[in-house]
Amino acid sequence: MNVYDSSRIADMLKKEGYEETAKQTDADIVLFNTCHIREKAAEKLFSDLGRAHIIQQEREEQFGKSTIIGVVGCVVQAEDTQIIKRAPFVDFAVGPLMYHTIPDILKRIIRQKNHTSYVNTDFPAVSKFDFLPENESQGACSYLAIQEGCNNFCTYCVVPYTRGVEYSRPVAEVLQEARRLVDTGTLEINLLGQNVNSYHGEDENGKERNLAYLLRRVAEIDGLKRLRYTTSYPADMNDDLISCYKDMDILMPYLHLPIQSGSDKILKAMNRRHNSADYLRIVEKLFKANPKIGMSSDFIVGFPGETDADFQATLDVVNQVKYIQAFSFKYSRRPGTPAAVMDNQIEEKVKKQRLEILQNLLFSYQDKFNQACVGKVMPVLFDQKGRHKGQLIGRTPYMQNLHAEINDDNINKIVNVKVTQATTNSLSGKEV
Ligand code: SAH
Ligand code: SF4
Repeated sequence: MNVYDSSRIADMLKKEGYEETAKQTDADIVLFNTCHIREKAAEKLFSDLGRAHIIQQEREEQFGKSTIIGVVGCVVQAEDTQIIKRAPFVDFAVGPLMYHTIPDILKRIIRQKNHTSYVNTDFPAVSKFDFLPENESQGACSYLAIQEGCNNFCTYCVVPYTRGVEYSRPVAEVLQEARRLVDTGTLEINLLGQNVNSYHGEDENGKERNLAYLLRRVAEIDGLKRLRYTTSYPADMNDDLISCYKDMDILMPYLHLPIQSGSDKILKAMNRRHNSADYLRIVEKLFKANPKIGMSSDFIVGFPGETDADFQATLDVVNQVKYIQAFSFKYSRRPGTPAAVMDNQIEEKVKKQRLEILQNLLFSYQDKFNQACVGKVMPVLFDQKGRHKGQLIGRTPYMQNLHAEINDDNINKIVNVKVTQATTNSLSGKEV
């Protein structure tokens, strides 16, 4: 979502006449887009700001050039004016729902004589999407935000506080943006939302529609080759959506469906609206709809009160689902969330051990899946140049990175490739 937001901010600034610089020392404006989901991500901001401040001072002293420093994203929403207190040289800080105001703020900053910092963390009544200029493709693969915010209030999570309540963009608006992305070179669209499968946008007649409906409409766009969506919440994985995997070839057979924990006691304490049996039932239905689906998930280890038996239940789920990829994290205590004040917090040492055990198991399944791809022919969408000359990097339908020695003309094309080698993290192959 932050990659998408950053691209929308860049579009806005381009429209104002700015262009991207390759080096930070050349930049008249330095903008940080931030994440607050775990503590590490938030702390990184202040060290990055410190470095930007040094460059700001050097530019002033050596070349008499001023540098505007801005911060956007969820850390701003959470820290609010604290950002300016800790880093007074920051010129502006806006929350993730207010970034459409950046051009105006910049104009004010440029006009002003004395340094004033602007902070805007409103939750607006009108969607920011109404104010953003038309965007173009972000390359052969583009993100498109269709939903933002969350009403689930999992007890560990800051999202409902930083991104606000759930909002779904209307169907027509999504279709218009999708068409524009395809017209400007996109072959693959990844529809985004913090809780994307609870999408309930209005169609052209004011009728509320679900994600399955939206997928089928987006799939009709001429020239679009691949469709994905992320991130989904298990309880919102309805039969309509599952049935899309039966007959929609354009929908990639890869689904990121976070379970977080395999223990029902922990899932309850997390305030998740599913238990492990519900989750496994959904996975079974998905495999029935399309046996070729590859599953992915997020996991949190060391949530307050997690015992060895609870952790074992998580490993059991991994052994049943055999994820082809996954993201796993140590529980991070986020200020203002209910879990942060639970009294049975888990020691750092235990969290670390559990994460290592879980990741080793997850990697073993990922590796097995990748090895099983060797010898197979897969359609690969090449969208990047590799490190070596004559090498391109692309994505398989399962989001695996694949390297190939292949002519540069194949960039931004889907090519059939025979997989010749696999590691845990990537594949290599040859054009067939
Ligand atoms: N809406 C998605 C997740 C979005 S947040 C869902 O409900 O599944 C992305 C991931 O960050 C989460 O899946 C979770 O695994 C991780 N995460 C969120 N808060 C966290 C915390 N306090 N500590 C550790 N990981 C966290
Ligand atoms: Fe956070 Fe996802 Fe839970 Fe919403 S559903 S509160 S985004 S973890």
